[in-house]
Amino acid sequence: STPAKTMDPQPTKKKVVAVVGGGLVGALNASFLAKRGFQVQLFESREDIRQAKIVRGRSINLALSLRGREALKHIGMEEKIVSKGIPMHARMIHSISGKQSPIPYGKKSQYILSVDRANLNKELLTAAEAYPNTKLNFGYKLSDWSFDSGMMTFQGPNGTEEEIYADLIVGCDGAFSAVRKQFLRQSRFNYSQTYIPHGYIELTMPPINGQFAIAPNFLHIWPRNTFMMIALPNMDKTFTCTLFMPFEEFDKITTGAQALEFFQKYFPDAVPLMGVAALKRDFFQLPAQAMVSVKSSPYHMGDRCVLMGDAAHAVVPFYGQGMNAGFEDCIVFDGIMDQFNEDLSAVLLEYSKIRVPDDHAIADLAMYNYIEMRSHVNSRWFLFRKFLDNF
Ligand code: FAD
Repeated sequence: STPAKTMDPQPTKKKVVAVVGGGLVGALNASFLAKRGFQVQLFESREDIRQAKIVRGRSINLALSLRGREALKHIGMEEKIVSKGIPMHARMIHSISGKQSPIPYGKKSQYILSVDRANLNKELLTAAEAYPNTKLNFGYKLSDWSFDSGMMTFQGPNGTEEEIYADLIVGCDGAFSAVRKQFLRQSRFNYSQTYIPHGYIELTMPPINGQFAIAPNFLHIWPRNTFMMIALPNMDKTFTCTLFMPFEEFDKITTGAQALEFFQKYFPDAVPLMGVAALKRDFFQLPAQAMVSVKSSPYHMGDRCVLMGDAAHAVVPFYGQGMNAGFEDCIVFDGIMDQFNEDLSAVLLEYSKIRVPDDHAIADLAMYNYIEMRSHVNSRWFLFRKFLDNF
């Protein structure tokens, strides 16, 4: 199906808003904008993940915190997502000897939730699609757009190029945003991108006799100086384990035997739980993934375009707040829309003014913790404390 083409803004009708990117933030944002009555067109370069056999994302599961929940509540999705999340009331620290020590997040009632990324993304797309004034377009990859005309250029699903109009373009197309490219050509736009020396791989810890292999209501952490592993529970009673380690260390491990040896040395308690054969195989399933921190300012161009989520601010994942901050972007934007009566030039200006400092603070905190963690490798206690601050 082809998206509705609106060549001219119609003064009697609500404005056309294009959400570019149907990841976590774009899918959520579509509902926020649809609720306001805009004609929402969402464009996602991938196929519809609700129909896809394999869904690749930046991680299999992630931690949903209060910030993110607030945004879900606004569009009536909180319960639906929370009911499929697993509460994590505390971190569980695994020492090399296998000793496990729980460290609560705060008061007994406080917790974060482990949620499945693909399911969250699917549910948000379905929620957005339920609005009659929203259309989801899959297989549409933005290549360019024009500030003056509001025309966007897409590579469509059948390889053809399509020009589509929008009054407002909302860039939710992630850390390598194509929408953002246009900003770089603009005077007084600040931008920086930093890759950290660490990469990550994801491994699975299967259930044992139908039960979780380790205690489910925890975020498990194996802190090991310059590297560490974490594990978050899934609804199917597996854990997704993420190993963070400098690329140069990953490069040293090239055979299954070396992978096993590495795990036996640093994570001996995890080896029987993950399984020797699986470990040797899965360690090499995907190459280690890079992590990038992106900072930009301002987040808008005139009354035509605004960036949200990772497109505006990708953060390193040592704070577990990337998606949560992106969800908060949507709620903050919505509040400013009320405040300025949907006058887009005022709204976008205010959004950058309010949001840039907060998002930069989160990016700095995430990077600060990452650097601290690396530079104090000799102080075991300091390191231990730092790991706890991170999660
Ligand atoms: P993305 O999820 O990257 O989505 C962007 C979408 O845009 C994609 O669907 C992509 O296909 C589409 N797209 C890209 N280019 C185009 C184009 N040209 N045209 C059309 N569509 C396009 N955050 C947390 O809050 N808690 C956590 O526990 C957590 N854990 C993490 C663990 C890891 C290992 C990593 C890497 C990140 C983690 N994050 C976490 C951060 C979180 O993944 C991101 O902040 C979040 O995915 C951002 O959502 P987004 O929608 O802005 O971008």
